[in-house]
Amino acid sequence: MSTHELFATRASRMKASEIRELLKLLDQPGIISFAGGIPDPALFPAEGFAAAFQTALGPDQQAQALQYSVSEGYVPLREWLVDHMRSIGVECGLENILITSGSQQALDYLGKLYLSPGDTALVGWPTYLGALAAFNAYEPRFDRLSINGNRGAAEYAASAGEGAVKFAYLSPDFANPTGETVDLRGREALLDLADELNCAVIEDGAYQALRYDGEAIPPVLALELARKGSIEDCRTIYCGSFSKTLSPGLRVGWVVAAKPVISQMVLMKQAADLHSATINQMAIDQVARACFDTHIPMLRRVYGARRDAMLQALQDHMPDGVQWTKPEGGMFVWLTVPVGTNGAELLARALDTVKVAFVPGGAFFPDGSGTNTIRLSFSNSNEDTISKGIRRLGEVLRA
Ligand code: PMP
Repeated sequence: MSTHELFATRASRMKASEIRELLKLLDQPGIISFAGGIPDPALFPAEGFAAAFQTALGPDQQAQALQYSVSEGYVPLREWLVDHMRSIGVECGLENILITSGSQQALDYLGKLYLSPGDTALVGWPTYLGALAAFNAYEPRFDRLSINGNRGAAEYAASAGEGAVKFAYLSPDFANPTGETVDLRGREALLDLADELNCAVIEDGAYQALRYDGEAIPPVLALELARKGSIEDCRTIYCGSFSKTLSPGLRVGWVVAAKPVISQMVLMKQAADLHSATINQMAIDQVARACFDTHIPMLRRVYGARRDAMLQALQDHMPDGVQWTKPEGGMFVWLTVPVGTNGAELLARALDTVKVAFVPGGAFFPDGSGTNTIRLSFSNSNEDTISKGIRRLGEVLRA
């Protein structure tokens, strides 16, 4: 007998999207895909990882590499991260860092830590689908966070009868899905709003290292530290990831926050998976120490050229009435097509007629609005393919 009628209420909020069905068609030969926001595997530091795993499995390290380890994470990697965070303006100690299994796990834990059913989470409209999915399991309401750097304003649209606002979530650098960056005034305004609401800020830094032009803007956590002096007084929780820089398959991310937040997340990790894979953390540590400083400039050059190719092709081939973002980094360009054009229908048509794939934007909106938007990723195609694919997409939009 099935037990599915016994599932908890939260299970009914977890839905597979119909887009996934369409994207299964991506395996067909000849498809040009701008769909997945994934790194180009040709750019992985594969030799570095081969050497690192060999060392980790060698006589000196194998006992540690294959053994259980502490929930907080591999100490040398956390030490490297203390230096890395300092290099982007965040002064913290070892005890402020937890290694997670990808930053996705951190988002899940933060949902679990902060959200009781009916609480409010402030998110961008649109926002990262994986964050919505992670938080959604904890049965919150989502309200719209708007940050306007020009006006130096951060606001949210309060819905009727909402619960306490527990946090604001944002990806301030080259967000998924829009590619947009929150400027300095916007970040400061967000901190003002968070102080006013007395809520946490979840800063998703997944794409932070991938800036192709323009000046780096300090993380929200760095700005809050400058205001408050100590990380222990900060409400911002920074989630980092090696997925976009070194390897997503090893599932290594990290969280930086005040000690009470980290301690509670350590308890969650103990209850969920004890710790992230020891050998993966050791390999990431070795590769980061050996080549992070040379690998990142290489990624910036390659992805930056692809971003340029996509923006140029859009300029050349998009019909009037289509607008797009001009990201300074990351992996995404966000298109707004004329109202009435449905992104999901457009995807079905583009796959069928010109074999081009992308992600319809509606899924990134908590209320299912934004149906006339689409997300294009430029990270996993070379410049020629990008030009060809965008030309074909232009044909579909014109038709
Ligand atoms: N945040 C954002 C904005 C992302 O785009 C992604 C991956 N697509 C993640 C977090 C999760 O990445 P990971 O778990 O691999 O670190």
